[in-house]
Amino acid sequence: MSFSKAATSITRAIATKSAGFPLARPLSLSATTAAPTLTAPRRRCFASHTGSCHCGTVKFQADTDPVAVVNCHCSVCRRCHSASYAPLVVFEPWKLRVTQGANRLTKYTTGKEDRFSCSCCGSKVYSELNHLKKRAAFLQNFDGHGADGKIRVSFKPTFHIFYGSGTIDVKDGLPKYDTLPAALGGSDKQLPENFHSKR
Ligand SMILES: [Zn+2]
Ligand SMILES: [Zn+2]
Repeated sequence: MSFSKAATSITRAIATKSAGFPLARPLSLSATTAAPTLTAPRRRCFASHTGSCHCGTVKFQADTDPVAVVNCHCSVCRRCHSASYAPLVVFEPWKLRVTQGANRLTKYTTGKEDRFSCSCCGSKVYSELNHLKKRAAFLQNFDGHGADGKIRVSFKPTFHIFYGSGTIDVKDGLPKYDTLPAALGGSDKQLPENFHSKR
């Protein structure tokens, strides 16, 4: 099962159709125990998306919508991002490319991932997910996200991973996997949203 197919299937399992396209919508808490169903890839709206580090030295572009957008609570992402979790916008590697400032990137390898940052401002730019053969950029670095507080539909996270090793509860109604869904090689175990406040 490819990451794309699995993520697509999970997205489908929690999606509500609107205007011909499935929109990710929060699930009720009781629905989070439902296992993802594995079905055909959903129809996608292809578009070009650009982004940059904070200082603008490094710019990147994706020529398609992401295959998945997930919130990762693993200890490595939390520390590397100095954040409670990292929103990963995942693409096929050849679909996400650096268009400016590649020579200003610094690489830091954490086990299975190579993490690239801007050497000028320190912003995280993208990661090579070597074990999944995917490339991930970070939600907040894309243009058009932030000032108005809105996130494009195709960039809305659809589930959380490594929630069990995280530190905070996120009450957004999305599935919370202890590690990863089975389709991505994990235990498939889901946790309640209040897992951290109750332990
Ligand atoms: Zn920069
Ligand atoms: Zn992570």
